[in-house]
Amino acid sequence: MNKILIVEDEIAISDLIKIELESKGYKCNIANDGEIAADLIETNKYDLILLDIMLPKIDGYELLEYIKRTYEIPTIFITAKSQTSDKIKGLNEGADDYITKPFEIGELVARVEAVLRRYNKGSEIQRIGNISINVVARVVKKNGVEVSLTPKEFDLLILLVQNKNFVLYREIIFEKVWGEDLEFETRTLDLHIQRLRKKLDLKDKIKTVYKIGYMLEV
Ligand code: CA
Repeated sequence: MNKILIVEDEIAISDLIKIELESKGYKCNIANDGEIAADLIETNKYDLILLDIMLPKIDGYELLEYIKRTYEIPTIFITAKSQTSDKIKGLNEGADDYITKPFEIGELVARVEAVLRRYNKGSEIQRIGNISINVVARVVKKNGVEVSLTPKEFDLLILLVQNKNFVLYREIIFEKVWGEDLEFETRTLDLHIQRLRKKLDLKDKIKTVYKIGYMLEV
């Protein structure tokens, strides 16, 4: 599940974006000023940031510099129509795209999707031994034969693959795959790991790291 931070001080706009993106399956937080945004960025892991330029407390440029230097999170600038030079400045300073207010909400969603795709570029097909995973089409094949996974099994597999050879904490895995809405359930996680190992014959590769979590070792 991709997590997006909406930094925008016009509440009507930030709410509209949040409702739309959440209806598409994204998880969203809103920051109505630059300071709140910086705090949220520090304590959360975002996949993308929508960033207004004119903001109370810390402006969009300052925030962008901080985001790019410290976190490397894909960022789309939201600019007012009159601020043409802002677009160029924003792109020069590392923004991945921009959108001009007022915008069609559908266009914003399309830009979000495009930037996220760009960041996953080259990793549309992931391979682990004889297993190929199409991240976009959500199709997994073992020795060329499709293996059917449940959505959660698939999300779990992707998370392990994206973090291969790194130990993932159980709580982090749970949060990433099941979201914060569900109480942490170690049994649920263990069961899904077992299913994945079995379905994809990854018994030796998905390691249990005692008292910590799991790791895909390749
Ligand atoms: Ca503003």
